[in-house]
Amino acid sequence: MKGYIHSIETFGTVDGPGIRYVIFMQGCPMRCLYCHNPDSWKFHKENGKTVDEILEDYNRYKPFLHKGGITVSGGEALLQIDFLIELFEKAKEENIHICLDTSGVPFNRSKKYLNKIDLLLKNVDLVLLDIKHIDDEEHKKLTGRSNKEVLDFANYLSRKNIPVWIRHVIVPNITYKTEYLLKLGEFLAKLNNIKAIDILPYHTMGVSKYKNLGIPYPLEGTEALTKEHARKAYDVVIYSIKKKRAELKKIQIGENIA
Ligand code: SF4
Repeated sequence: MKGYIHSIETFGTVDGPGIRYVIFMQGCPMRCLYCHNPDSWKFHKENGKTVDEILEDYNRYKPFLHKGGITVSGGEALLQIDFLIELFEKAKEENIHICLDTSGVPFNRSKKYLNKIDLLLKNVDLVLLDIKHIDDEEHKKLTGRSNKEVLDFANYLSRKNIPVWIRHVIVPNITYKTEYLLKLGEFLAKLNNIKAIDILPYHTMGVSKYKNLGIPYPLEGTEALTKEHARKAYDVVIYSIKKKRAELKKIQIGENIA
């Protein structure tokens, strides 16, 4: 079996712990307005690699990948789940730390899919889950897809106790609103597997790719945000998580007394 690869980064420092070998898979069903990888959207059968070819390449860089491992990202990595099952299984035999970076949007509860996702997750050390927007209607406007599967996947991972880093991009007038950050916190408060929350400021680094592809940039004129904005948004999310958890605790205590 071959996996169809968009590109590989051999010294990744932002997609999981340590220094990582990051595989960006081809194809994505979403069309996020701020996507900085529009060249990964299309799936075409070029640059196919077998699991053995990837692991052989990984092992060339292994001495430099301090406290890292392999991260599979995209596009949307889960579109090639059969390949990932094989890759993660063999990588685990070599004791490699595995991160799956996903939007969660392909997740569904069909028996066939759950069998596959369970096979995959048994070899995943950490999921980097991108929650693009907490509000379903806004999520549709931002990405072209509902967030129902994304939030369902978050709940599924929590139930399975798979460690997760939540990633959320704040964009002016889209996600950078108190109302939505509070709502995001309320949702996250109910999960018990969160190891970190990355609130990332919107940037415009992908704009030139749109020009090269001849696609109009959907967020033309939207100003990039700063780390300071991200810090403020993070504080709102954390405040909301704490508030919601305190409420849930009170309800639980109340139920126990009753
Ligand atoms: S999920 Fe990622 S690759 Fe796909 S459109 Fe959104 S930002 Fe781009």
